[in-house]
Amino acid sequence: MPLTQRRLVETIITLPGTTLEEETHRCNEAIDAVAVHCRFQEGGAVARGRPSTKRAHPNPVKEVDPQVAAAKAEKQALNAAILSVFKEERPTVCFICLGEGLIKSFGRPGDLSKHFKRKHLQHMSDRDRLECKVCQMPLEHVAHLRNHAHSVHGTVS
Ligand SMILES: [Zn+2]
Ligand SMILES: [Zn+2]
Repeated sequence: MPLTQRRLVETIITLPGTTLEEETHRCNEAIDAVAVHCRFQEGGAVARGRPSTKRAHPNPVKEVDPQVAAAKAEKQALNAAILSVFKEERPTVCFICLGEGLIKSFGRPGDLSKHFKRKHLQHMSDRDRLECKVCQMPLEHVAHLRNHAHSVHGTVS
């Protein structure tokens, strides 16, 4: 066990002091030991490491994976779209498609209405298990869904 690590263990497992002063001292010791240990580990890594000229990444800031960045941008777009179907009076994004993780955006609210009727309402019946996925709300009848679409998501049908 490296010396600093032993000191770390010893100070941390020490029993609490009987007086406040002792206790404070013990705490300081432990904090100190942890700090020394951390420095030791960092230093150790450098000592064992390659010369600095050979370092592949001179910049310690991790490069963002383009895939991760794309996923993040997608998530942001999705969040913005979700916000729009809740906040905007006449949104142009289909909240049903949004529930499936798809952003279907239209030029005008009227186009959204057409899409909503043709692509969704037309294929729904009261026998289906209806729900609004963005709200995670089950809806019993198509009429409820239409009402929900209008009152919550500003989608007129
Ligand atoms: Zn849709
Ligand atoms: Zn909803």
